[in-house]
Amino acid sequence: MSRVFNFGAGPATIPLEVLEEAQKHLVDFHGNGMSIMEASHRSKMYDDIHSEALTLMRELYDIPEDYDILLLQGGASTQFAMVPMNLSLGGKAEYADTGSWSAKAIKEAKILGIDFEVVASSKESSHNHIPSDINFSDDADYVYITSNNTIYGTQYQTFPDTKAPLVVDASSDIFSYPVDWSKIDLMFAGAQKNAGPSGVTIVIIKKELLTRVKDNVPSMLRYATHADANSLYNTPPTFGIYILSLIMKWIKGKGGIKALQKENEEKAAILYDAIDNSDGFYVGHAQKDSRSLMNVSFNIKDKDADLEGKLVKLATDSGMIGLKGHRSIGGLRASIYNAMSKEGIEALVALMNKFADENR
Ligand SMILES: *Cc1c(COP(=O)(O)O)cnc(C)c1O
Repeated sequence: MSRVFNFGAGPATIPLEVLEEAQKHLVDFHGNGMSIMEASHRSKMYDDIHSEALTLMRELYDIPEDYDILLLQGGASTQFAMVPMNLSLGGKAEYADTGSWSAKAIKEAKILGIDFEVVASSKESSHNHIPSDINFSDDADYVYITSNNTIYGTQYQTFPDTKAPLVVDASSDIFSYPVDWSKIDLMFAGAQKNAGPSGVTIVIIKKELLTRVKDNVPSMLRYATHADANSLYNTPPTFGIYILSLIMKWIKGKGGIKALQKENEEKAAILYDAIDNSDGFYVGHAQKDSRSLMNVSFNIKDKDADLEGKLVKLATDSGMIGLKGHRSIGGLRASIYNAMSKEGIEALVALMNKFADENR
């Protein structure tokens, strides 16, 4: 078997142990005579998985009891609309625009016709930093940030202190470091970057927000519907939730989220050091004080698209895939989520160093 090192931004690499465990039980799930995929979502067989996923998430991420954890569908992109539909009280919402995903969230607020304001933006500098002076109003209905900007490779180093409820799109850095829940009121993430396969959307919401929703919001788009039904209002994405439960066990086996954070810091440092010590051959997109531990976006000097293409191809030929940068900034992007091994990053850095020496 030869597995590639997958640096793709999402769906992203999943720990081999998790895939092998799922494979082992795919056809006959622990003696039940059928796959977990075939089990009723009302069965005990499935319910054990569902509960385990929720319990482990709460335990590992230290989620307080006054928050509900919801397992939904529709991706993070559906949350861009569900957030205003459920949290807007008719006052103003405020957004920080730190990249394409924030912009897409803002677009949905606009479509829904709620009153909102973009109070901080890094757009003028092609989103190469997190604005340092974000000032959200105390009396906003909610305020909104994107904790990690998957395309631009920037990440909040701390969350802003807000009086208004803080909503965080953590699609690309959920479970990668412990968070301070006293600052957060709603966090959401599509699972396919750091928490498993596509098709599961995680929403962690403070219970007191559940009562805000207006009567004209359809059942499936109301957080309260799913909270009241323990995310079993309709058929949940059962197989994806099973993989999510295995990912949680894998995180536990690694020593928990704090241990992963340490590993993530070490892993990212190897790559950023290679960029910083390349005598300007490689140029990181993010300003140093905004660098992401999850997505490392960089160019080759003078944004040489020809050399960038060559390096991507060379990497692909060497079993390192998914390194082409997003079209909005070009260059390369290495997504180094929880499941990317240190060996993968070391292999990439060895190739980058050799390539720089040969093409300087
Ligand atoms: C990938 C991504 C999304 C979109 O997720 P979908 O599940 O595809 O809708 C939203 N926000 C961020 C920060 C992302 O990285």
